[in-house]
Amino acid sequence: MVRHGNEKEENWAKEQEKIRLEKIAARKKAEEREKLKALHFMHCPKCGATLTALTLEGLEIDECPDCKGVWLDAGEFHQYVALADEKKQSFTKQLFGLFGLK
Ligand SMILES: [Zn+2]
Repeated sequence: MVRHGNEKEENWAKEQEKIRLEKIAARKKAEEREKLKALHFMHCPKCGATLTALTLEGLEIDECPDCKGVWLDAGEFHQYVALADEKKQSFTKQLFGLFGLK
């Protein structure tokens, strides 16, 4: 009977140790992710130079002053595609208007 109680305590202690180690591992992983993020934020993925934020057609892009690469944040590519479509339609409408067409 006593032995059964010790086994329960040992299992509980093992489970608590497992939870403690998992928390430590998760915290270390989060710290490592933050370090990497700080190290790479606004740096060119090709050459490592510090990126410059530019505004183009009302949208912000990141340009590398060294290799001239242009980088877009999440969703910006789709914004540019939508903007290009609008301009294309606008241009087409203007062109049709020029010839009296609709
Ligand atoms: Zn670069």
